[in-house]
Amino acid sequence: MFYDKGLKFECTRCSDCCRLSPGYVYLSHSDLKKLCEWFKLPQKEFIDSYCRWVQYYDNTEVLCLKEKSNYDCTMWKSEGGCSAYGARPVQCSTYPFWSWMLKDKQSWDECEKDCPGINKGRVWSKEEIEVQKNLYDGIEPVHRYEIEPVK
Ligand code: SF4
Ligand code: SF4
Repeated sequence: MFYDKGLKFECTRCSDCCRLSPGYVYLSHSDLKKLCEWFKLPQKEFIDSYCRWVQYYDNTEVLCLKEKSNYDCTMWKSEGGCSAYGARPVQCSTYPFWSWMLKDKQSWDECEKDCPGINKGRVWSKEEIEVQKNLYDGIEPVHRYEIEPVK
């Protein structure tokens, strides 16, 4: 792999990956559980307040965080950034070690324009990178039919 000797990454907390452009932060069952605990809300209230159902690649509907009208993530606050940082979804905590970004050196370097922490700061070892990548690959979003069974 091009990252056998590791890759540099250190988050600058710029929030570019949290705001001002449309995207999807999918939630797995464990993300949902952690976030409900973090906000001390029952599942239905949490979903109604912070989530939306979106079309997934397999044509099912899956759970995703809402966005504000300016495309900021619903969890992002101007004071303090992510209001769920300690319970943020795996999709967020594994960024930027996502499999498609790690496809080859060119893909990784191209992502620098979206994330100023890439190729800066401390070196992540191949093993550390693969832990993150595998967590990302393992995300299975909550399907609507699991939460709201079809009658
Ligand atoms: S874009 Fe990169 S540097 Fe900025 S907050 Fe996100 S992960 Fe951190
Ligand atoms: S949940 Fe937090 S870390 Fe993830 S996109 Fe939203 S504000 Fe950013």
